[in-house]
Amino acid sequence: MADSKRPHVVILGGGFAGLSAARTLKRADVRITLVDRSNHHVFQPLLYQAATAAVSPGDITAPIRFLLRKQRNARVLMASAESIDVEGKCVRLDRGDDLHYDYLIVATGARHAYFGRDEWEEHAPGLKSIEDALEIRNRFLAAFEEAERCDDEAERRAWLTFVIVGAGPTGVELAGVMPVIARKALAGDYRAIDAAGTRVILVEGLDRVLTAYPESLSARAKRDLEELGVQVRTGARVTAIEEDCVHIGDERIPCRNVFWAAGNQASSLGKKLGVETDRAGRVPVEPDLSVPGHSEVFAVGDLAAVKWGDKLVPGVAPAANQQGKHAARGILADLAGRARKPFRYLDKGNLATIGRNRAIADFGWLRVRGRLAWFLWLFVHILYLVGFRNRLSVLLQWAYAYFTFQRGVRLITQVEKREG
Ligand SMILES: Cc1cc2nc3c(=O)[nH]c(=O)nc-3n(C[C@H](O)[C@H](O)[C@H](O)COP(=O)(O)OP(=O)(O)OC[C@H]3O[C@@H](n4cnc5c(N)ncnc54)[C@H](O)[C@@H]3O)c2cc1C
Repeated sequence: MADSKRPHVVILGGGFAGLSAARTLKRADVRITLVDRSNHHVFQPLLYQAATAAVSPGDITAPIRFLLRKQRNARVLMASAESIDVEGKCVRLDRGDDLHYDYLIVATGARHAYFGRDEWEEHAPGLKSIEDALEIRNRFLAAFEEAERCDDEAERRAWLTFVIVGAGPTGVELAGVMPVIARKALAGDYRAIDAAGTRVILVEGLDRVLTAYPESLSARAKRDLEELGVQVRTGARVTAIEEDCVHIGDERIPCRNVFWAAGNQASSLGKKLGVETDRAGRVPVEPDLSVPGHSEVFAVGDLAAVKWGDKLVPGVAPAANQQGKHAARGILADLAGRARKPFRYLDKGNLATIGRNRAIADFGWLRVRGRLAWFLWLFVHILYLVGFRNRLSVLLQWAYAYFTFQRGVRLITQVEKREG
């Protein structure tokens, strides 16, 4: 079939969902254009490792163009999608150029949200992209440099106080690793810092940490965190974040480092699809993952609100993978004149790491904690990491960190940004 006659499938987003959609269409007689505003796919589950100097950003990313290099029916555009005209079947890109489609798969994910307090972002960066991870790494490492220079004890204490807001997997992972780095990897390199003076506080508005897990595992995670030296404050709300302090309820804690791991807001492109989104900005979809009223448009991954019994499918990488694949299969079914099937989420279980040798795993029929869960977590993350070179490199860096307690990537690269 002449090139222009082949159906044009536009995929917005080269994350887990977008990539798996593109790959599922590998042998289809279609033209695929995958658009992403960055040139790389990010393995988000290991972002916190990059944020805490354990692995290099390059090891948890891969160029999207490289990942699809062998797929002849796909091209990649590095561009930001600005709006979607679902009636005219057209996506407008950042330079005003238009992409017409026969099928559209929107997989632009989510960002962290500040519950309407966007001004907090300046003092409390969140963790979604490589840039975010570098920002957190810089701030975390620079805090020790500032503390070393400080003559004032109260000020030094503020530099060595780290508050993490939100005790979901990201908050727990960040909180669990920070005291260990401070005690084992950093403190010995400084002269004025007493590692025991490093304080890590994890704040959660709900009554327990890791609320997606059964209570027994979440209680275990809390105990693990406390043993690692984290102060866990559940049922506590952050009411203000300023440059030099954070307010938890009525209490003012002098603190120079706040990291945000609470709340998600789906990509704003969801609002351009002509349907009402939920409070988190997610797009409700039909059982085949298409957008109501537009069977040629699919919303998948973190952007989509996909029903799963009386809940929603969780915003995790395997779910995004499965949804991307399913949307692509819907297109394949159309092309073959078959009926589309409803999406069924295959829950592969949940894993969260709390720190060295500490993790929890919930497979429904089996719950694991401690060292075994930690090794499982390690194995799964290495297994799913994109690209062989990355796997090897991450494995070596982890082995180094595990046996030496050191962090291999202690680079501060944007100090001037912080001074500004
Ligand atoms: C810190 C962290 C830790 C996590 N840990 C785990 C874990 O341990 N296990 C797990 O299963 N899940 C984990 N997750 C969740 C998991 O990473 C997400 O569910 C998954 O990435 C969602 O995939 P997605 O394809 O929907 O979106 P994403 O992977 O976020 O991809 C979206 C893509 O869209 C692009 N994009 C966005 N807007 C535009 C635009 N306007 N134009 C063009 N491109 C655009 C982005 O650049 C990005 O490449 C974690 C997430 C984070 C942030």
